[in-house]
Formats: sequence, structure tokens, C-alpha cells
Amino acid sequence: METAAAPPLRDDALARALADRHDDLIALTQDLIRIPTRNPPGENYREICDYLDRRLGRAGFSTELVRAEGTPGDCTAYPRWNIVARREGTRPGDCVHFNSHIDVVEAGHGWTTDPFGGALIDGRIYGRGACDMKGGLAASIIAVEAFLEVFPDFAGAIEISGTADEESGGYGGVAYLAEKGFFSPQRVQHVIIPEPLNKDRVCLGHRGGWWAEIETFGEIAHGSMPFLGDCAVRHMGAVLDRFERDLFPAMAARRTEMPVVPEGARSSTMNINSIHGGQAERPLDSTALPSHCVPDSCRIVIDRRYLIEESHDSVKGEIEGLLEAISDERPKFRYALRELNHVIPSMTDRDAPVAQAVARQIGNVMGKEAEFVASPGSYDQKHIDRIGKLRNCVAYGPGILDLAHKPDEYVGVDDMMQSAEVMARSLIDLLHAEQDP
Ligand SMILES: [Zn+2]
Repeated sequence: METAAAPPLRDDALARALADRHDDLIALTQDLIRIPTRNPPGENYREICDYLDRRLGRAGFSTELVRAEGTPGDCTAYPRWNIVARREGTRPGDCVHFNSHIDVVEAGHGWTTDPFGGALIDGRIYGRGACDMKGGLAASIIAVEAFLEVFPDFAGAIEISGTADEESGGYGGVAYLAEKGFFSPQRVQHVIIPEPLNKDRVCLGHRGGWWAEIETFGEIAHGSMPFLGDCAVRHMGAVLDRFERDLFPAMAARRTEMPVVPEGARSSTMNINSIHGGQAERPLDSTALPSHCVPDSCRIVIDRRYLIEESHDSVKGEIEGLLEAISDERPKFRYALRELNHVIPSMTDRDAPVAQAVARQIGNVMGKEAEFVASPGSYDQKHIDRIGKLRNCVAYGPGILDLAHKPDEYVGVDDMMQSAEVMARSLIDLLHAEQDP
């Protein structure tokens, strides 16, 4: 039943503690944007961890800086640093963990402001990572600091982490920390990831992904007598034809129970990421003519996104079956299939305490019913689920997902304030803090 819910009374001590921090939230977000943490290569992770260390240390957190040694990209020039900060309450209880990635993608072209300047223009803060996700990190810190001022003797514990490499798979970040036990269900009971999924939505999880390279083989011959060789590109053409006729229609027909947005991502999908066959591509400025050869190799990279109803085995098996079927029909067809990467789909139950707490507080703060969604692409929840074995995890944060990775990325200050309030009030629910009269 629809009820015209007017936002309830919010003129309490917590609302005032948040309002007092309005300017601090802006300054904090700007400071974080001004530490360029581009990934690749993974720069300034230590600098931003040191900044967060000082900030959270002042707020009474004990902190640990953890370098993910030996993970992809970790080296002396670009060490993979993470920070985990924890503040204990005065009594035992659940731990709520806010996890944000500290890395950003490259700035790219087309900016009208300095991508690492953090300019404040008409209530928006601009910069690479403003929405994805330094704005969310700043909002969660402000939320926690305001909560601690009003509820100093809360039960349980609060953690805030800043983690590396989400944009490149999270292996030097959340995956590494999960392997070290930082996300074990004994230590942490609720996780909120402030990714930019719009301030009135609770994101329950994401689809899975499977990346693979398929190579077809041929035999080199002179291009004037292709019948003396065997063209690997034509074999790949047979693969692509099979995808068009069989695989794409089959994937489109599969629909998921996951509330994925946008709607088009509620089916299985696959992108053909690249194709290459024959001689190496000529540089654009080359005037040399290609030599005449029949290609003996052709490779494609596929990016298959899959649903919670599918499995790694079924996704892989479907492609293998299709390649085997071509082998049976097509003389001299030879291929190799190499898995490049795999991540599981993850979805938290919408009745999970953290999902319900955030949804309820969206209703309180925004005066409208929260929308439950799932993400077409993955984020660090997969590691918390698979390695940490922790299922009570959602993504919730300020910022508009469509702006992520684009030029003139920004986050709205009002959006950050509202989502900080949702986060702070969710802490009241999850940590059973007593409201002051
Ligand atoms: Zn992100």
C-alpha cells in the first residue's frame, strides 16, 4: 500500500551532529580527490592510507596498514597498501564495517575542470573518483564521526576500511584482506560498501563474470594460394557465427530473479572484447604494405556476465560444448580455450539485517520507499562473499553510477549529506544504540 510518507522528525542530536559537519564533509572529499590514486598503476595508496590513518586516529580508531605483498601489480614503486580502522564500543555486540576502495580509474580526456582539483561548483564536487567512490568514503567517515559524538557508549564495534585495486579486480585489496581474516563472520557481521548506486537504492549484489580467450589455429601459406594453408580467421568466423545463431539467443532468453538495473542486464550477456588474427596490426602512421600470408592464429577475448541462477561450470561448459560441436562439423578446426579470470555472482537476501536497516533509514531520511537493486558489473562484494564467507553485505552510497569513469565526474554535497544520514541512522539500528529523548 502506498502511503504518502512525510519524512518524520529529524531534528535530533544526530541530525545536528551531521549538519555541524557539512563543511568538513566537503573538505574531506576534496582532500581525498587531491591525492591521485590512479589505477593502473596503483599510485599514492600509501599517501591516502596515511591521510586516513591520521583522520581516523583522531576519531579514536585503532588502525592497521596492510600491504598486499605479492598480489598483481604490487612492487616497490607501487605497493598495494590498505587501511583497516576499528573502534570498539563499550559493550559486546555486532560489528558494522564500511568498505571503500581508494583507487580511481585514469582521468582520460574531456574534462572541463582539473580531475584532481576537487573544485566545488554549485553544490557539486568535481574530480576523478568524486562519485566512484571518494564521496562515499567521505560520507561514511562523517556518518561514523557524527554517530560517535551522539552515541559514545554504543554496543559492538565499527570498522572503516580503505582498500586498493577494486578497479582492477580487488586482489590487492578486499580479496587479500578477506584471506587474512579481516572479513570473517566472527569479526564482522554487517558490511556496507558506499559505491555510487544512488542515495535511495540498496544494492544487494552483482552478476558474476567469466573472462576467457579463445584461439583458433590454422596453417601459414602464401596469400595467393590460401588452399595450401588453413585460415585461422575463417575458423574464428565459424565460432562467431555459432555465437550469433545459438549462444546470444539462448543467453537473451535467460532471465534472473536478481533485481539488476538497468533492465537489459537481467539476462545473461556477453561482450566480445577484442579480436585479433594474422600479422600484428600496423602502427597508424606506417606506410608499409602488409605481406601476403594466411593467418595461423586468431584470438578473441570474451567477457561473459552471468546470473545467480547459472554456475561457473555451466557458463564454461556452454562455450566448450559449442566449440566441440564446431570441431565435429568443421574439418581441421582446432582451438584452445584459456580462462583469464572468474568472479562469482553475489546476492544478499533482502531480509538480511543490513539490507533492512539501510532500506528503513532511506525511508526515514528520504521520505520514500527504498529500491532494492543489483549491479550488472561486479564490485568487491564477491570477495567478501566467497573468501570472507560473509553474506550480510550491501552496497549503498551517494553519487550517480552513470557518472563513474566519465569526464567531469562529480558528487553532489546534498546527496552525500543525505546518504551520510542514512548510514549514521543505520548504525543506530544495527548497533542497537539508544536514541536520546
Ligand atoms: Zn567503485
